[in-house]
Amino acid sequence: MPSMTTSKVSRWDQHGREHIVRVRRAGVQRSLVCDTCGWRRGAQFLPWLKAEEHLAEAHQATLDPSAES
Ligand SMILES: [Zn+2]
Repeated sequence: MPSMTTSKVSRWDQHGREHIVRVRRAGVQRSLVCDTCGWRRGAQFLPWLKAEEHLAEAHQATLDPSAES
């Protein structure tokens, strides 16, 4: 499975659709881009947390596909 240096956050919604926010590094800044809706945001700290927030709020996507048992 992916290492800790993942450059994207993917979550599934209740319909089994995958939504992905990509994390790009630009110096100390990180920029987030959502594949689903084109949402963008800069984040200096905790970019993955902000990505998860967006996925949950905008797409109701909260299921982590890498967390399967
Ligand atoms: Zn989005």
